[in-house]
Amino acid sequence: MNGQGLIKGLGITFKHFFQKEITEQYPDVMPQLAPRFRGCLQFEFEKCIACGICVNSCPNNVLSFETEKDENSKKKKLLSYTIDFQHCMFCNLCAEGCPKQCIYFDHNFELSSFKREDIKMVYLRPAEMDMREEESTNGQEQQESKEQKQIDAMQKALQKNPGKVLSKILEQEEDIIILSELMQSDEKTAGKIAELMVKDKEKAAKVAAGFVNKAKKNRAKTETAGEGGDAND
Ligand code: SF4
Ligand code: SF4
Repeated sequence: MNGQGLIKGLGITFKHFFQKEITEQYPDVMPQLAPRFRGCLQFEFEKCIACGICVNSCPNNVLSFETEKDENSKKKKLLSYTIDFQHCMFCNLCAEGCPKQCIYFDHNFELSSFKREDIKMVYLRPAEMDMREEESTNGQEQQESKEQKQIDAMQKALQKNPGKVLSKILEQEEDIIILSELMQSDEKTAGKIAELMVKDKEKAAKVAAGFVNKAKKNRAKTETAGEGGDAND
């Protein structure tokens, strides 16, 4: 029938004319993106441990970094991290392998730039990171030196008045005398007890009891051997 095609076409036109518009008004209105949409690679410098898994898993050599050995901690220190995005194929292998989740894709898809070099992203070590690490090392050193002073003071107190100090971790008078004698003959034992009394009193009590029990057993053995020798005579 003549005009059938025209009627059909007009039908489609009218149908779409009354339908809700679905054209995305980008860039005035940003599109709705799927949660796993891969836009631009992001990198969090402070979380990175410079393990190199991302660099080794990238098939296109997009990623690279520079490190140096930290003089204080003797650990590897990340200096810079580079993403040469122009070769990236959005495969996500780098992000999947990262144990610290410090490299990942965000939803930014507006990646065009006038110069090729601008696509390259270079992250440099933030100065605050070094300052924070230095402060933490200093704090740790101060804590260690304070603890060492306390241990030295405890060792002196143990030498001066062992009975009084050891009564804090041993109840029996006999045990206190045994441990005092042990510490007088062995500096290592004295050092260990002093250190534990500063760091962990409960553990010091357990270790002291162990030393005393061992000394008692040794004494009993020596006495038995002595008696055996006397009987043989
Ligand atoms: S997404 Fe793929 S190609 Fe891009 S940097 Fe990561 S591993 Fe390399
Ligand atoms: S895998 Fe992650 S933690 Fe390891 S170097 Fe790469 S970004 Fe850093």
